[in-house]
Amino acid sequence: MAELNPYFEAIHNRVCVICMEMNEEGECTVHGGDPCIVRKYLPRIVDIVNRTRSAILEDYLVQFRDVVCASCSPGGENECVFRDESACVLDRYYALIVEAIQDVPFRKVS
Ligand code: SF4
Ligand code: SF4
Repeated sequence: MAELNPYFEAIHNRVCVICMEMNEEGECTVHGGDPCIVRKYLPRIVDIVNRTRSAILEDYLVQFRDVVCASCSPGGENECVFRDESACVLDRYYALIVEAIQDVPFRKVS
């Protein structure tokens, strides 16, 4: 875990452990050219959480869709087959991801 920055380490401890993509050996099964969306967009996700000061979790989801989905898929915030099939880990676990990031004292993403 030494290579993980503090934000992903927090997400690993709270989200990866219950993520459906984790195998019985505790390893993520998402690899290669289509990496975990949370890893891929972590700096943007962290930035959104650190500047969106709201007690309403859905406010963070709106930002994720505006910023991350807009970069991730041609359909962006309006249309995504992964979201529709509950196959996107950011969309599926967004509340836990927000909470994990908020629990990390402010540090720059390395
Ligand atoms: S898909 Fe992402 S959130 Fe799920 S176990 Fe893999 S790295 Fe963690
Ligand atoms: S919901 Fe779709 S467009 Fe948004 S981050 Fe997930 S896979 Fe990408």
